[in-house]
Amino acid sequence: MKKLSHLLAILAAVLLTACGTTSKVPITGRTQHLLVDDATVLSLSQEQYDSYLKSAKKSTNTANTQMVQRVGQRLASAVVKYLTQNGLAAETSYYQWEFNLIQDPQVNAFCMPGGKIVVYEGLLPVTQDEAGLAVVLGHEIAHAVAKHSAERLSNSYKQQYGMQVLGAVAQSAGVSAGTQQLASLAASLGSELFTAGFSRKQESEADYIGLIFAAMAGYDPGVATSFWQRMAAQGSGTSSIFSDHPSDAKRIEDIQKWLPEARKYYVPVTTTTTKQSTTTSKKSTTTKKTTTTRK
Ligand SMILES: [Zn+2]
Repeated sequence: MKKLSHLLAILAAVLLTACGTTSKVPITGRTQHLLVDDATVLSLSQEQYDSYLKSAKKSTNTANTQMVQRVGQRLASAVVKYLTQNGLAAETSYYQWEFNLIQDPQVNAFCMPGGKIVVYEGLLPVTQDEAGLAVVLGHEIAHAVAKHSAERLSNSYKQQYGMQVLGAVAQSAGVSAGTQQLASLAASLGSELFTAGFSRKQESEADYIGLIFAAMAGYDPGVATSFWQRMAAQGSGTSSIFSDHPSDAKRIEDIQKWLPEARKYYVPVTTTTTKQSTTTSKKSTTTKKTTTTRK
């Protein structure tokens, strides 16, 4: 709540129209109706990202940090290439990619709007290798590319105030009252607005898009099944970011259904894959070397 005044200042610059904008989610083509523009979402999320990084400690494990940067960069390149080749080149200017590995035992990762990727060290024993990490990061990047935060903020607004109110406010009193309402909503949703708490529909969509992004980046999407089985074995409640995801059984069932489609995008790369450094993994001593081979 303390940031409300700052949010107001940012949101004062937002151009709201009576009907918002209708756009299509890349890959799935789903139509979404957004009341906030990219610039607003970026401003809000950048503020939260900066504040998070100030309090976070970066990993001292060089090998794992480089792995996160390598996998993240390859996914980012694949996403930018896809957007560019599909008439969405203008979208790519919103991404200023950053990849961080943070000292935190939680099984967690997120990608903020604009491509700010954060991976917690606690996730790596579960992802096990680069392909596993690509599945998670593909999913998180998909939330950003599909503008799920903007959609969530827009839907919350519609639920609370209705479209007519927004239209009336925008027309009669400029955008100030509407932006104030949006700012209050953004503040009430808090930091999770950009990192967690997505709807089940959005989670499922991120699973699907993420699988295809991973494949496009040269990672075998087939590892997603075993990765989500390992996640399921962690038990619910161990990872806040995955808490609202579809049930494990449903998710794995869906992923198996989507794999043939994802594999169409899969072109293995020639880069040598290194298994993650195991200094943070207690399970590593019993794990057989199962380095993913990509040719
Ligand atoms: Zn998610």
